[in-house]
Amino acid sequence: MEQGSRWREWRWQLRHRIRTLDGMERHFRLTPEEREALGAASGRFPVAITPYYAALMDPDDPRDPLRRTLVPLPDERLARPGEEEDPLGEERDRVVPGLIHRYPDRVALLAIDRCATYCRYCTRSRLLGGGLGTRHWEGAIDYIAAHPGIRDVLITGGDPLLLGTGRLASLLERLRAIPHVELLRIGTKIPMVLPMRITKKLARTLRRFHPLVVSLHATHPRELTPEVERALARLMDAGIMLGSQTVLLRGVNDDADTLRALMRGLLRNRVRPYYLYQCDPIAGTGHFRTPVALARNLIDALRGHVSGYAVPTLVIDAPGGGGKIPIAPDGIVGRDGDRLLLRNHQGRFFHYDDALE
Ligand SMILES: *Cc1c(COP(=O)(O)O)cnc(C)c1O
Repeated sequence: MEQGSRWREWRWQLRHRIRTLDGMERHFRLTPEEREALGAASGRFPVAITPYYAALMDPDDPRDPLRRTLVPLPDERLARPGEEEDPLGEERDRVVPGLIHRYPDRVALLAIDRCATYCRYCTRSRLLGGGLGTRHWEGAIDYIAAHPGIRDVLITGGDPLLLGTGRLASLLERLRAIPHVELLRIGTKIPMVLPMRITKKLARTLRRFHPLVVSLHATHPRELTPEVERALARLMDAGIMLGSQTVLLRGVNDDADTLRALMRGLLRNRVRPYYLYQCDPIAGTGHFRTPVALARNLIDALRGHVSGYAVPTLVIDAPGGGGKIPIAPDGIVGRDGDRLLLRNHQGRFFHYDDALE
């Protein structure tokens, strides 16, 4: 698509998203499998790619890592054993519509059920376009206000930055007005796929709500374009803490060089890598999932080769609603009386005397 004068307007980018088989045909040289997956009404959930993000993909290479994350394959209609629509049991921890209360001090508020682009491994695909609307905000805010134990509200979705700046500000104002809410967080993919959404006005608005964390969904080092770097700097310069979340994906980012480049690139942009997720067993995501042993090896490949600040915590979001469980390689491999046997990232062994009570 031609980069006309309105290319830098975020609403133009949204209006011109590639959403149909025809649109895809115009942009990519599709494989028969991609064409089949995009065929009439066959998909489990919508397809959408911003022109900005599509321009980062190789139109001729079906194995392009960014293309793999957004262009569907027939595999996504294949539910494998152990896969479910809601493996994390979020519906069970849903206390009012759009509010998940799993940990005593934190809630996840699903503020909106749409995104700028639709990741094919989406954890919440069951909710997308389900007509959640925003009327449920009222009940969610009342619940949070009535529970003084809640100190931290994670605003997620969908993608909350898809809301207009005024709507988003009104939500943040309501939450900030609750005395026991200390921390606000926004979970979003938008800075990576629609960096033009990070306007000066948005940054000016967000800075009124500190402490505020923006948790970026980052997938691949190629996402860190000059446009994205400018958007991240704008958020950072507004005093917003930036963290990242990455899902480990087969054929996309499941090798040491890619992950190192991504984590180093994020840190260079003042983003602290936060979580690296084993891909959730959502129905139709088996083709993305990697073995847990690989994830652990990749953490070893980061540890010792990049700044500690660039090493995220590797977690499995436990099926059944157990929450996020760290699964990084355990440094303690055994104990001999008072001596611990430790293993470092190179696989070398060391002792530590642990005789103290
Ligand atoms: C991930 C998550 C949180 C936040 O957990 P942190 O480990 O503090 O980032 C809160 N609620 C739910 C339901 C979550 O899935």
